[in-house]
Amino acid sequence: MAPWHCELTRAHPFDFNSFMTKTVSLHLKRADLIVSHNFIAGNWQASLEPDQPLMPVTDPSDASLITHVADSGAVDALAAVDAAQSAFSDWKSRPAKERATVIKRWNDLIVSHKEDLGKLISREQGKPLAEGEGEVLYAASYVEWFGEQATRSNGEIIPTPANNKRLMAIREPVGVVAVITPWNFPAAMIARKIAPALAAGCTVVAKPAEDTPLTALALAKLAQEAGLPPGVLNIVTTSRTRAAQVVDVWLADDRVRKISFTGSTPVGKHLAKESASTLKKISLELGGNAPFIVFEDADIDAAVEGLMVAKFRNGGQTCVCPNRVYVQTLVHDEFVQKLAVRVAALKVGPARELDSQIGPMINARAVEKIERHVQDAVAKGAKVVTGGHRIQRAESPQAAYFSPTVLTEATPDMVCACEETFGPVVPVTRFDTEAEVVGQANDTPFGLAAYFYSQNPARIWRVMEALECGIVGINEGALAAEAAPFGGVKESGYGREGSVYGLDDYQHIKYFCQGGLG
Ligand code: ADP
Repeated sequence: MAPWHCELTRAHPFDFNSFMTKTVSLHLKRADLIVSHNFIAGNWQASLEPDQPLMPVTDPSDASLITHVADSGAVDALAAVDAAQSAFSDWKSRPAKERATVIKRWNDLIVSHKEDLGKLISREQGKPLAEGEGEVLYAASYVEWFGEQATRSNGEIIPTPANNKRLMAIREPVGVVAVITPWNFPAAMIARKIAPALAAGCTVVAKPAEDTPLTALALAKLAQEAGLPPGVLNIVTTSRTRAAQVVDVWLADDRVRKISFTGSTPVGKHLAKESASTLKKISLELGGNAPFIVFEDADIDAAVEGLMVAKFRNGGQTCVCPNRVYVQTLVHDEFVQKLAVRVAALKVGPARELDSQIGPMINARAVEKIERHVQDAVAKGAKVVTGGHRIQRAESPQAAYFSPTVLTEATPDMVCACEETFGPVVPVTRFDTEAEVVGQANDTPFGLAAYFYSQNPARIWRVMEALECGIVGINEGALAAEAAPFGGVKESGYGREGSVYGLDDYQHIKYFCQGGLG
């Protein structure tokens, strides 16, 4: 197995060495998992808009058409809320154990369809097949976890201030939740929002990203098969052009009591502002600008390994990817030289070729941004150690590939130091002191993840405490786990996904006081 691959495949080993270059088609064992309709009130239906608009879903590996799905609008968005609201009182009043049984059955179905779902993810999103299958199991781990948590959502008896009273607090579901997800983890992003919502007793209206709607629809199909009652989960697909039409309906509707969003900071801020008129609860998992720091007392080989794992899974298109790499002067050249060898060896190719390690970028917009970041860095003095250019494949000239890249002499004025590149580019900056590098690491409006490598216990605690972020990797590049709280600070958003805290975001606390007992 290629150890750089990702924590997903590390947790669920896949024999990378046995790969052969061959093309795998999207023949699913369950062809009916490819669905083109919205899922509303337990029905699979075309858009309710007058002309039943459709949008294409394409394969980023070669820009070929996979299928069409509904390009929904306001009418569909409203129908989804109506369904979710009607289903709410029944779902919330079912015993937690009954909800847990359905959620765990859903988990079992996701796991037993991991090959099909992995192919679907890989095909519509462009990550290599092994990563697609890894993502399915990762998504399922959240479903399983929250299925279990449903039965552990305890209340509290509060010490009474007077003997004739008893004070208690219980947790209740907030109501209808609107879920809006990005394209980079088509299964995991949606699972780690929907599973806690269902566990808490909420009902859901969800809009997957326009680039990757198929995985969400397939997951909904399995949820239906698991016995989820009609209306508890509703999926509405839409193009980017009409996304706001759908989401605006949810923002304005006072029956929607919570928004859970993962995506860009500008869209997150827009949702926070617009949901204020009905004071919805809101969780935002937004952009990052993760620093990765290598101190001179680090195990350099482990640091290179950690960076490969953290940076190159999903082609560098994850919000916790290291975006800025700082290496202390004494070990800078050794680190860069070892890193460059590993990065230059990465195989770029279509997701369906089994030896591809870096697939295509999601779309032309994405690869244009990466190219702009590299060109800006070079114009400001960065040196290209390896990569640095687009890759155009003769057989699919429209597909968007970028070569895995290492840059040195990166400086804070470069765009790649300020904005998330979201691609396979590593800009390296040299530093001298701990205070200097912590200052640089924190000099960003974002605060999602940060990583550092050091073998000095005192420094480990100092730096971990000084970093302004929600997630810290210490001598480790693979951080995600369903039992761990995932989320950011500053403009990376608020709220936590996964862990015991992940359920809190879908609940409110009801306090009650019983008197007349004395
Ligand atoms: P990215 O740039 O990675 O696509 P976005 O924040 O633009 O990130 O997209 C994340 C999700 O937000 C997607 O589902 C997208 O359709 C949705 N989205 C984009 N713009 C809006 C908007 N104005 N209102 C509501 N949702 C939006």
